[in-house]
Amino acid sequence: MSDARKKPCCICRRWFQPDPRIGVRQRACRNPDCQVARRRKKQKQWREFNPDYFIARRILDRGKADRAPEPLRLPPPLNQLPWDIAQFEFGGKGTDFIGVLGTVLLRGAQSQFGAYLTDSARVSDILPPSATQSQIRPVAPSGCGDPRA
Ligand SMILES: [Zn+2]
Repeated sequence: MSDARKKPCCICRRWFQPDPRIGVRQRACRNPDCQVARRRKKQKQWREFNPDYFIARRILDRGKADRAPEPLRLPPPLNQLPWDIAQFEFGGKGTDFIGVLGTVLLRGAQSQFGAYLTDSARVSDILPPSATQSQIRPVAPSGCGDPRA
């Protein structure tokens, strides 16, 4: 029986005898540490191939609540936007999606900017200190006229 041949564990590299019921599909030995490590490795792989799964699940779960969920906690400058207006206009799921989209774009821009800064420290001299915040102005307080009108 070829399935019963010994093979190296994908975690600890020690040779082991695969369980005959699992056969060639068994990649890690029976050591609990190797089983845990293999499971974590597999889950990490799965998350990398399905990056949208948990975000989609969270948005859908938040949409199931009877009343409107609390707005997402977003990093600055996204937290300066009037998310109550977005919830009114686009609903909970639409607003959550926009919030997540903004956060993903912001993180992408920040990581690009960080990499650029390590290449050239002179950038900080050229850019104004609040370059990202000057693009997005908070809604004027009531009494100064409704900017949405
Ligand atoms: Zn092992």
